[in-house]
Amino acid sequence: MHSLHTDSRGPLPLFIAGERRLGRGDDAESLYPATGEVVARLRTASVDDVDEAIRAADHAFRTSTWARRKPHERAAVLYRIAQLIRERAEPLAQRQREDNGKPISETRALVASAAGTFQFFASACETMEEALTPSRGDYFTMSVHEPMGVVAAITPWNSPIASEAQKLAPALAAGCAVVIKPAEATPLMALELAALCEQAGVPPGMVSVLAGRGSVIGDAITRHPLVRRVSFTGGTATGKHIARIAADKMMPVSMELGGKSATMVLDDADLDHAINGVLYGIFSSSGESCIAGSRLFVARSRYAEFMDRLAAKAAALRVGDPCDERTQMGPLITPRHRESIERHVAVGLAEGGTLRIGGRRPEGALYERGNYYLPTIIEGLDNRATISREEIFGPVLVAMPFDDWDDLVAQANDSVYALAAGIWTGDYRKAWALGRAVQAGTVWINTYKQFSIATPFGGWRDSGLGREKGRLGIQQYMEQKSLYWGLNPHPLAWAD
Ligand code: NAD
Repeated sequence: MHSLHTDSRGPLPLFIAGERRLGRGDDAESLYPATGEVVARLRTASVDDVDEAIRAADHAFRTSTWARRKPHERAAVLYRIAQLIRERAEPLAQRQREDNGKPISETRALVASAAGTFQFFASACETMEEALTPSRGDYFTMSVHEPMGVVAAITPWNSPIASEAQKLAPALAAGCAVVIKPAEATPLMALELAALCEQAGVPPGMVSVLAGRGSVIGDAITRHPLVRRVSFTGGTATGKHIARIAADKMMPVSMELGGKSATMVLDDADLDHAINGVLYGIFSSSGESCIAGSRLFVARSRYAEFMDRLAAKAAALRVGDPCDERTQMGPLITPRHRESIERHVAVGLAEGGTLRIGGRRPEGALYERGNYYLPTIIEGLDNRATISREEIFGPVLVAMPFDDWDDLVAQANDSVYALAAGIWTGDYRKAWALGRAVQAGTVWINTYKQFSIATPFGGWRDSGLGREKGRLGIQQYMEQKSLYWGLNPHPLAWAD
């Protein structure tokens, strides 16, 4: 097993008010999910640190000229960050593997995606256009956008560098100062990104990293009067809590929340494609993915054949050491999270579900110290069962046959979540009709879990509010303003 870069020199500093210094909050540790070893120690932020960092961020926003630089000048710094991420790609991927236990092949892809995100928003920044709107009088009218000021990025533990880049890059492109609150379990990538921003020339104080408990530090950031927007990715309950606080401040938020995505295999699907797609959709990232295709609907006429083949392939997935390039599923983030998955599986079985595969921890020396759980498929339940309704956020698939089109559409849409969906069919007309009928922010047709930073992403209903990514992602961090320029040679007639 790859050695850990444990830091025996004491706690890591945070980024507070333009300085690298220890927080004044509690001690915390990042633990390697594959072994439980300490990867790094931190001294987290205190509520006073939050106030200091946000005041300094506001000062930096108003005085550092970052917001007033020409777009191509800001873009040059963002390009440089992309380049620095690429230069450090392997150590960053190894560091993220240690911080959250994902297989190295996945963390390499996340690091590449973070670099691509900075590159994309650099180009979006320097090519963003404002509008000259049609005039209806003796004036001409323009619509322009101004940076909001200090914005907060609150992120979960499942894909840290990618989700942090997805907020940091457009916010910096917009000219904002950014306060990042990484998840308790995975603070390291935000610290790495802040260091690269500093190295690339982002002015001091514009990027802070305030690691700490969500209910204390995340809450204090959200309530702070100088924070003008929160971009949140995480659980739906937390998102609703933040949105309630935001309502009192009349503060815009964007919410990337949970999911219970339906994957639908029609009777004319190419089963080789569908099997690989369904497996990737639910079991990659060990199911710790907001877009995991966790509800599977298969046409009854193909159900038995499909499930036999799917179960055989799922049982052969390589669960194990995240350092191994061939590993498909690493450990889960924490022992506590694994217990919550085990409770969900127990509820599924108590409600009449039957285990097709998995439903337990793997056995053997390799697995003893890590939070491993086997790929699990449960059958015999319907879409009303608890585990068909609640997000499990682990490697657990609920499989159900469907009878006809209306039955499929009704069941797929019968969820409080509406983040993503997958359709497997050989008929483009059905793909189109179902793609339009299914309620979800993203629909994959004959593929799954593919992403482009150029394409907007977000959820409907309890899966979220607002969109990230895409060229217009920058404008989330800006306020729109209309300008009227009078051209009338005479004074306004009304007052005469
Ligand atoms: P979580 O909601 O527990 O935590 C997310 C972040 O919010 C963490 O940084 C946490 O410290 C912080 N937080 C917690 N309480 C807070 C509070 N009161 N005020 C402010 N901040 C607070 O979620 P998690 O367990 O870290 O992540 C898993 C969840 O994230 C799943 O539901 C998953 O679906 C969702 N997720 C969604 C997307 C998406 O893009 N839609 C992507 C990844 C994960």
